[in-house]
Amino acid sequence: MSIIEKTAKEQTQALLNKEISAKELLDETYKRIEQVEPKVQSYNCLTKDLAYETAKKVDEKISKGEQLPTLAGIPLALKDNMVIKDYPTTASSKILENFVSPYDATVVKKLKANLIPIVGKANMDEFAMGSSTENSATKVTKNPWDLNKVPGGSSGGSASSVSALEATVSLGSDTGGSIRLPASFCGIVGLKPTYGKVSRYGLMAFASSLDQIGPMGRSVEDVAALLEVICGYDKMDSTSINLEVPKYTQALGKDIKGTKIGIIKELMGEGVQPEVQESISNALKEYEKMGAEIIEISIPHVKYTIGTYYIIATAEASSNLARYDGVRYGYRHKDAKSLIEMYMKTRAEGFGDEVKRRIMLGTYALSSGYYDAYYKKAQQIRTLIKEDFDKAFEKVDFMISPTCPTTAFELNSKTADPLSMYLMDICTITANMAGVPAMSLPCGFDKQNMPIGLQIVGPVLSEEKMLNLAYNFEQAVNIHKQPQLV
Ligand code: GLN
Repeated sequence: MSIIEKTAKEQTQALLNKEISAKELLDETYKRIEQVEPKVQSYNCLTKDLAYETAKKVDEKISKGEQLPTLAGIPLALKDNMVIKDYPTTASSKILENFVSPYDATVVKKLKANLIPIVGKANMDEFAMGSSTENSATKVTKNPWDLNKVPGGSSGGSASSVSALEATVSLGSDTGGSIRLPASFCGIVGLKPTYGKVSRYGLMAFASSLDQIGPMGRSVEDVAALLEVICGYDKMDSTSINLEVPKYTQALGKDIKGTKIGIIKELMGEGVQPEVQESISNALKEYEKMGAEIIEISIPHVKYTIGTYYIIATAEASSNLARYDGVRYGYRHKDAKSLIEMYMKTRAEGFGDEVKRRIMLGTYALSSGYYDAYYKKAQQIRTLIKEDFDKAFEKVDFMISPTCPTTAFELNSKTADPLSMYLMDICTITANMAGVPAMSLPCGFDKQNMPIGLQIVGPVLSEEKMLNLAYNFEQAVNIHKQPQLV
């Protein structure tokens, strides 16, 4: 097994044993990127200088025999909506094509403090709006398991890079499933933390009441380790939770006997691909064998989640994206005769279709005559969904569902029909609406050898136990496989 196929934990061991240096590990990673990137296209840009600078510090520490911080030297892909000082961040939008950030996002500060080399900025749907990464203005990322299929979105590059061994771990952002869906489509692990657990300072805002940054990796343990690095209170984010960060990695491997797992009945019926259904049922049997109790539960308002989400998310987006006006950031139309014309042409030329669709929808939902009918109603339903969750968590410790009703779909098969794309989010959105943590982990393959994702949803701040539940499954059902790209 080559070094880049190993998990972060194993790579760390290799660094400590001096089997390889941090520089050599980066060399291997960039070699792989050179090899497979023409096919997969995970990255908007590479950040080699930064990565090698970091690796050098790691090697110095190792040679001096100093202790390494968590994940030091482990190659990481960063979604291109988190800013790094003096490097470009585009959110895969034309409107930000020349934008260079004057500061570091809080998560980037934490990565730097832990000496984690950022190998590049990963492609995504423009401003994180989408489920396939096809809404990117820069390139079309492919699914490493089948290059004719989408990697999922919006953190498609963060997922494909880890799956294609172009990075060992990555960070994504999740507003309505954008970490979990691509994790599921690419056969890796991805976690959306409790709202407020990870600082959003330096994350380009999409829908601020839903957005969360989270870790992605090839094992539960790697994801737990990266979560430990990025969590924590930040005074720069007013929604940041001021609680100590648990040692997530130390919570792994505990017995789960007696854990009550709810299976969400509304998400297991109609519209779910039979192989997905079967895989989830098998996972539940595994959990039963481990001594968990399986209980069928209902989230009655699930049927309203997509409609509600696409009102709230677009309303917040229409407000958040008002800042891209050609004055302060990135692209500006050159020949306008008035300020208003400059705003209009800049936005018309700079934003892609999906972003414009959402700005229009959101502005409409917030406009004075329609606010009560749409935005206010959506917020009321959001409360009902949250109450459904509260009630469910009186009966069970965790809930399970598919991460997505299907496996990855063909490129271009849904781009002409935005509603069919929105339906991909049915299983993931509720966790963002309720602010609770949720994760996706591989649980099987369909007949075409495409990965299937199992979603676990837990109550607020249950990440430790949730990761342990996932870890137990991962250890019991060893389905580690790699896509064969070269
Ligand atoms: N697919 C959803 C959307 O397009 C989720 C996006 C996200 O989580 N960033 O809004």
